[in-house]
Amino acid sequence: MTYQGLIHTYGHFLDLPIHSRTVSLLEGRTPLIRADNLSRHLGGGFELFIKYEGLNPTGSFKDRGMTAAVSEALGRGATTVICASTGNTAASAAAYAARAGMKSIVLIPQGKVAAGKLAGAIAYGAQVIQIDGSFDDALTMVVEITNKHPICLVNSINPYRIEGQKTAAFEIVDELGSAPDWLCLPVGNAGNITSYWAGFKQYSGLKSALLPRMLGVQAAGAAPLVLGHAVENPETVATAIRIGKPARGEQAMQAAEESQGRIIAVSDERILEMQKLLAKLEGIWVEPASATGLAGLAAEIESGKRRPEALEGLKVEGQKVVAVCTGHGLKDSEIITRDMQKPSVVPPRLDALEEVILGN
Ligand SMILES: *Cc1c(COP(=O)(O)O)cnc(C)c1O
Repeated sequence: MTYQGLIHTYGHFLDLPIHSRTVSLLEGRTPLIRADNLSRHLGGGFELFIKYEGLNPTGSFKDRGMTAAVSEALGRGATTVICASTGNTAASAAAYAARAGMKSIVLIPQGKVAAGKLAGAIAYGAQVIQIDGSFDDALTMVVEITNKHPICLVNSINPYRIEGQKTAAFEIVDELGSAPDWLCLPVGNAGNITSYWAGFKQYSGLKSALLPRMLGVQAAGAAPLVLGHAVENPETVATAIRIGKPARGEQAMQAAEESQGRIIAVSDERILEMQKLLAKLEGIWVEPASATGLAGLAAEIESGKRRPEALEGLKVEGQKVVAVCTGHGLKDSEIITRDMQKPSVVPPRLDALEEVILGN
C-alpha cells in the first residue's frame, strides 16, 4: 500500500480534534540505520542505530509535529500560522502552510539562523522577520501576538506539535519490535524529548514494550537544564539548540527522571567532532545540533570507562541504543565549508591527475 503520511498511519494514536483536516507531505517513515562502524569506534559491544530525521520533507523532524499542528489549524479555519524559530521550525511551518494554502510568518533571531534554513522559509513563501534579540525573545513575542490576534501559534507549545512528534517513538518501536535500552537526542526547547517520552509511554502500554532510558544532551553554552537556571545569552555552533529558556524544560527533566536517564551537556568541540565522525564513518551528514545526542553518548561511555567504579557514565555493553539525528547536514553547509581547504586545481591532463592521486 502506498504511504500516506503520519496522520494517516498513526492518527488513531494521536490526540487531534475531529475538526482537523489532514495536511501532509508524506513526512515520517525515516530510516533507522545501523551504525556498526561508529559503535565500534566508541568501544563496541553494543548495537547503535541512527534515526535519521534529516530525511523528512523539509530536512528535519519538525515536519512530524507540523503536519499535526497545521492540520488542526486548517480544520479550525485559521488562515495564518506564526512561529519563532532557530530555523528548522520556520522552514517546516512555511512548507506546511504553503501546502494548506495558508499564510506563514516566522520570527528568527537576527544573524543566528543557518543559511539553508532561512532559504527554505523564503522559498516556501513565509514572511520572515528578524528580531534583534534571541530565540527566547522571539518566542515571547509570538506568544503575545497570538494571544491578541487570530493567528495560530505552531511552536512546540502547541500541543498538536507534541502529538505529531510522538510518531517517531512509534516508528522506532515498530521497527525494532520493542523500545531500545537508551534513546539519546539533542535538547533545545525540549519539545522533542517530551514527545518521545510521551510516545514511548503510550506505545509501551499498547504493545507491552519496555521503556527506554532517555539521554538528553544540551550544548554547554546553552545548557539551562543542566545548570538549573535560564541562560541569558546562550551561545553554541549548534544553532538549532541555542535556547536559554526551554518552553518544555520541566517536562524534559521529568522525562529524564521517570526514565532513569539524564540530561547532560557537551562542548561545541565535541559536537563538531561527532558531526565529522558520523559523516566519515557512516556516510551520514547531519547538522551540528543533530550530532549532539551522539556526542553526549560518546562522552558518557568514556566517563563510564574512566571510572568504572563510579555510578556515573553509561554502561552500554549488550544494549541497544538509538541516537536521534534531528536534521540534515545540508541545512548548514557553511559550518563545513568555512574551515575547509579549497579543493586542489589540476589542469585537464591525465598526467597531472595521476600526480595528484598517485603522487608520482
Ligand atoms: C528543533 C531542533 C532541535 C531541538 O528540538 P527541541 O524540541 O527544541 O528540543 C534539535 N535539532 C534540530 C535539528 C532541530 O531542528
